[in-house]
Amino acid sequence: MRTLSWLVLAAILAPSTAPAQLQELRPGFNLFTVQQDVQLGKETSVELQKQMRVVRNREVDGYLNVLLAKLERSTYARTLNRDGSRGEIFPFTIHAVAEKKINAFSLPGGPIFVNTGSIEAADNEAQLAGVIAHEMSHVVLRHGTKQLTAQNLVQLPLLLAGALAGHSLWGQLATLGIGFGANSVLLKFSRTDESQADYNGAEIMADAGYNPVELGRFFEKLEARGGREGSLEQFLSDHPNPGNRVAAIEDETRQMPRRSYVLDETGQFLHIKDLVHHLPTPAKSRASFSDAGPAPTPPLPAERPSKQFRRYLGQSFTLDYPDNWQVSGDRQANAVTIAPPDGVVEGPGGRTLVGYGLEVDSYSPRTGALELNRDTQELIRRLKQTNPDLRIAREPRSIEVAGQPALLNTLNSRSPYRGEQEVDVLATIARPQGLFYVIFIAPDSLFDQVQPTFENVLRSVRFD
Ligand SMILES: [Zn+2]
Repeated sequence: MRTLSWLVLAAILAPSTAPAQLQELRPGFNLFTVQQDVQLGKETSVELQKQMRVVRNREVDGYLNVLLAKLERSTYARTLNRDGSRGEIFPFTIHAVAEKKINAFSLPGGPIFVNTGSIEAADNEAQLAGVIAHEMSHVVLRHGTKQLTAQNLVQLPLLLAGALAGHSLWGQLATLGIGFGANSVLLKFSRTDESQADYNGAEIMADAGYNPVELGRFFEKLEARGGREGSLEQFLSDHPNPGNRVAAIEDETRQMPRRSYVLDETGQFLHIKDLVHHLPTPAKSRASFSDAGPAPTPPLPAERPSKQFRRYLGQSFTLDYPDNWQVSGDRQANAVTIAPPDGVVEGPGGRTLVGYGLEVDSYSPRTGALELNRDTQELIRRLKQTNPDLRIAREPRSIEVAGQPALLNTLNSRSPYRGEQEVDVLATIARPQGLFYVIFIAPDSLFDQVQPTFENVLRSVRFD
């Protein structure tokens, strides 16, 4: 009842020249920032394009981009702010995928993919524009990362807070078991999401001069065919019918200022539809969707560590490192990675790994006073949890770092460089706030070459 009276009131109060604002759209609870949406979408898009048959045809690409550019001009194609106002425009991209199945999907932050089956199934350009406008709406309303937020992953806030700054969001989420294939949570929208995307999409269409009713007609047609054809299953499960979607769009259209619409603004629709129908099927670069495909094997780092050193000022320590290496990490957390640019590589599942360089971090054991031997063993067990290949190569040695007792453990694991074993030298020092440690990492074949550098770095460590 309250909703109804509000709707009626809004309809009466809305000035006839203003765009209909019947439905009050608000973004859902979302831990991601708009920039993180963009980053995640870009990374995921790069991965998915390796696995899908993306159409590389200048005419088809050009046509889809013309439609996108028309739709982008609408205010409704902009980010929805918390107060209901509209903000920046996402960096939208669009690609056709050579699949007969009728489907379309979007990724957070802008990438949109439309199956050729959807182009063939559309009766006119307005229907295709409607599918694109609907997908754009999932992007601007940020439904993908909202769904991801709703998963209540305990690790997510920390991951997003930048504790892993510089790491791939896609890769980090993949390690949490978040998939980005056909059944990804990013593409599982609720019925409320769907009705919002229809509502917002209809506004985008109208602003671009396409009759929004065509969006409803297209979905209606799919629903009618869905019962007979299995090819629609994916689309209908990704975009569940919120019920009465055609009637809802018609209602919305009646509140819009009267406009004249055309079905094919560019005059190219039938030509493109025919072109798409006769496209040769491009080969898939991978057999199927997989969330953690084999990682590429990068070439070994070529440049030797510089003999010139630079000082890194951490929160409670300083150390010197070769000036041709780069620092990345979170100073506040006192965790830092220092490595040459080709020492940081992509591992399985898109995870960012350090294959050559060093990592500084600290570890707080659960209880009691620090005990160097015991806590170092516990740290190694912890490191094994994220790197099951890790094994002890040599008996620990007692050394001194910054005048304090320290332990040096030599471990081995699998290197991300092809055919290489990795040497990981772990130095641990008991500090009042926890176990301070540095891991020196190199592939076996480069270890002798970098060892003097590692020794210099360790000798330079000072505590405040
Ligand atoms: Zn949808």
